[in-house]
Amino acid sequence: MAPVLAEPREPREPQEPRDCPCGRRDAAGHAVPYTRCCGLYLAAAPDGSLLPAPDAEALMRSRYSAFVLQREDYLLATWHASQRPSRVRFDAGVKWLGLEVRDHRVLDAEHAEVEFVARQREPGGRAVRLHERSRFVREDGRWFYVDGDHR
Ligand SMILES: [Zn+2]
Repeated sequence: MAPVLAEPREPREPQEPRDCPCGRRDAAGHAVPYTRCCGLYLAAAPDGSLLPAPDAEALMRSRYSAFVLQREDYLLATWHASQRPSRVRFDAGVKWLGLEVRDHRVLDAEHAEVEFVARQREPGGRAVRLHERSRFVREDGRWFYVDGDHR
């Protein structure tokens, strides 16, 4: 048998999605690639720093994508210290089905609210709808998730 030369492969994140999990669409209605949407904020620079999401909606979307991709590090890093849990648990077998941002309200330069509906399917097949109005605060140029009211 002739030796098979291994093609060098581009290093890729495991399970990196093509379309952004947050479901953002461009002006023409096409799905925005992950690498040009939430992937911008979820990918740490070589020094470990994260590009700050420019507004509360972008942060909220990136946190949804972090739940889909089970990125506990990102969820904790973007959780305001006053409310941050010690860890984030991901429910086994839950499938995230989509995100719909209903409202993005900028209250002032440091405070904003985002209302969204996220849908998921539980392991047993039951579809669950999470409707929340979330509060965000900006400190040192970075937005953080504080908490939210369920609707
Ligand atoms: Zn996104």
